[in-house]
Amino acid sequence: MTDVEELLAQLIRIPSVNPRGRAEPAETPLAEFIADWARAHGLTATLHEVLDGRKNVLVTLPGESAETILLETHLDTVETEGMTVEPFEPTVVDGLLYGRGSCDAKGPLAVFLTAMADLAASGEPRPHTITLAGVVDEEHVYRGVLGLREAGVTTTGPVIGAVIGEPTSLRMVTAHKGCMRCRITARGPGGHSSEPWGRTNAIATAARIVDYLTDEYAPSLDAQARPLVGPPSLAVTMLSGGTGPNVLPESATLTIDRRTVAGEDPHAVWRDLREKLLARWPAGVEIAEPHIVDYALETSADAPFVQAVARVLAAAGQNPEPKGVGHGTDASKIAWDDIPCVVFGPGAIAQAHTPAEFVPLSELNAARGVIDALLRQSIA
Ligand SMILES: [Zn+2]
Repeated sequence: MTDVEELLAQLIRIPSVNPRGRAEPAETPLAEFIADWARAHGLTATLHEVLDGRKNVLVTLPGESAETILLETHLDTVETEGMTVEPFEPTVVDGLLYGRGSCDAKGPLAVFLTAMADLAASGEPRPHTITLAGVVDEEHVYRGVLGLREAGVTTTGPVIGAVIGEPTSLRMVTAHKGCMRCRITARGPGGHSSEPWGRTNAIATAARIVDYLTDEYAPSLDAQARPLVGPPSLAVTMLSGGTGPNVLPESATLTIDRRTVAGEDPHAVWRDLREKLLARWPAGVEIAEPHIVDYALETSADAPFVQAVARVLAAAGQNPEPKGVGHGTDASKIAWDDIPCVVFGPGAIAQAHTPAEFVPLSELNAARGVIDALLRQSIA
């Protein structure tokens, strides 16, 4: 086994399932293991409590310059119910390493840690300071990366660029979408279903809203397409209403998932949609505040850090072209601080969160080679 394969197996054996709303230490045993491992490998490590008992871990390797490369990834995984492989007992079959988190995102975590330890041990020049941030709660509501920002991201120096560790099949992802999710409720007076005349039927109103959103509103977003991620989108994802087969429904509620692109503020998107709906249905329709918002990422390909990552990928025989994806990551929150961010890692997003999650060992080792080379680059 290579050092990165061996460390990944150790990381998978430490459960770090996101407890979502529950109060549990969750990622803390993993954060503590990482801190101990880092210290044993010539690195400094500190723990930062961000949520009752749940801790981010920061690992640092000083370089010739205080200008810092940030390596960020998340410690938490999704649930293990329904898994068809052992979640916490990693197994290798045909070059694929199975286990919860193997791909999302303990693979990148093992890559970052072993690359830093290797650089520390090598005695080779270190042009930049390297900080690894392992954060909590990415799979729920991003409170780990928000805590990281509040603490100033790093205390070592200005961050010249960040690699966010997520499965990207070794592609350099520089753009992704954000989202705004909210519930829309149509209301009616109710009553006996044998006498529907003259009464607003909440389900019928909801159906018209679905038609409007799907056939008019969503296509109108096409004009806002961005080069790497395409247009914003809207999908109605949930619908419920009515209380009995012979009762006129008093309410019907639908949930929408509106995906945003760079330049869209999810809260402004909500206000605009609300205005449009209220213009058509001035009474009997309520648009609840968004229950989830997230932000899009669009990193300039001209940033020296992005060009450095592309050079390293090309030299390693990998595709250096920037790519866009639909799902969100911690990167968009780190980019608020004008830090050029790329998302990169071994394994495919299609394997993340699945019952038989795996990472190909060939990609794990290739990702390690890419990060090894990147940490030795002098980036102007
Ligand atoms: Zn992830």
